[in-house]
Amino acid sequence: MADARKRLSTNVEGNFFVDATCINCDTCRQLAPDSFEEVGEFSAVRRQPEGAIQLYKAYQALLACPTGSIGTQHSDKVLWQDAKAGFPLPLEGGVYYCGFNSEKSFGANSYFVTHPDGNWLVDSPRYIRHLVEVFQRMGGLRYIFLTHEDDVADAAKYAAHFRSIRIIHRADADAMPDAEWIVDIENRQAIGSDFEIIHVPGHTPGSQALLYKSRFLFTGDHLWWDPAERRLAAPRQLVWNQDHLLASIAKLADVRFEWVLAGHGHRVHLPAEEMQRRLRDLIERRHTTMVS
Ligand code: SF4
Repeated sequence: MADARKRLSTNVEGNFFVDATCINCDTCRQLAPDSFEEVGEFSAVRRQPEGAIQLYKAYQALLACPTGSIGTQHSDKVLWQDAKAGFPLPLEGGVYYCGFNSEKSFGANSYFVTHPDGNWLVDSPRYIRHLVEVFQRMGGLRYIFLTHEDDVADAAKYAAHFRSIRIIHRADADAMPDAEWIVDIENRQAIGSDFEIIHVPGHTPGSQALLYKSRFLFTGDHLWWDPAERRLAAPRQLVWNQDHLLASIAKLADVRFEWVLAGHGHRVHLPAEEMQRRLRDLIERRHTTMVS
């Protein structure tokens, strides 16, 4: 629970506030950009939410905040319940953003995919009863795909409850050594007709992306959308190997996808051709930076 005594002075006056425990993970700014902004090293409420849609999004940000750093002076229980019931948040085609980001993964986003052959969880939200019950109602979790070692969070608890198969790459397997499926590929591996694992080392040696129906690419911390620059971006810091990272970005030039669904960073939906153009632009920018 946020503490009003720790309310940051950068918040505007009003009901919603961010306190000094914020870890600046960006989750609230992704969910409710009309209300939350980055100010210095923290987020802050820069405009109090107004109207049903902004309030709904602000309560979703409050619930998704991994550190409980968002608070209200006066809570509206009905709105709070509505916002909670909205998680997991439908995106498109049976793909959902889970919400309830975990501090264990520094607030990384996680996703849920419904599929007739068994549902998938991509990285892990906090282990909370609401999500367990929703996943149960929607058919459970057959697979838990872990994009890399940093974002496993509560995957083991979800796996124990649903008897899921956790999938992690061998090079990152120290983060989940008892995973049921340790992947040992250097390129790509299909799973059924709809899913494909793509090894994208760079941020970590065992980073892997998951491609679903040649439309949705779950990228972990390998690739995301930069809304300020309106372009794709890849990590410059916390990179295990820059050469591998660039090669892994280039590897995606052969892959058709329309959605980038990131662990850290914004998601984006673009026509496949435009996505490829944006990817080529990223490759060119990073190559230019490397040689200059
Ligand atoms: S979601 Fe919470 S921790 Fe993350 S930036 Fe917002 S207030 Fe800070």
